[in-house]
Amino acid sequence: MAYDRDNIFAKILRDEIPSDRVYEDGEFVAFRDIAPSAPVHLIVIPRAEPPTSPAELTDADVGLAGRLVVTASKIAAQQGLAGSGYRLVLNCGEHAGQTVRHLHLHILGGGPLGPVA
Ligand code: 5GP
Repeated sequence: MAYDRDNIFAKILRDEIPSDRVYEDGEFVAFRDIAPSAPVHLIVIPRAEPPTSPAELTDADVGLAGRLVVTASKIAAQQGLAGSGYRLVLNCGEHAGQTVRHLHLHILGGGPLGPVA
């Protein structure tokens, strides 16, 4: 699927839509989800125009995908979630409920999350 430069996360990156950022570095930005599904619900996104979903990742994206997960765990620790635990989620496509076509990872925590499915 072609990348849409007007997707919500692209607009957040350009500050065309305000967001509550909790982390940023040269490659990733993290902000609070506008409709949290847990006491702490953060979204981590690459700054660069990324694949639109996990299904679009290729062998060339192994580094990106690895750094995305490592960075998410670093952010979770910074948010005080490391001791109590947290969940990292990558939604992919319609049945997973993916609504934004810019690769992103959810960090969920801050309380018991219940079973995955
Ligand atoms: P998806 O369902 O695509 O995996 O996740 C997209 C997430 O983006 C959803 O959890 C949704 O609540 C969040 N979201 C959608 N629009 C906005 C927005 O304008 N600002 C913020 N901070 N989050 C948003």
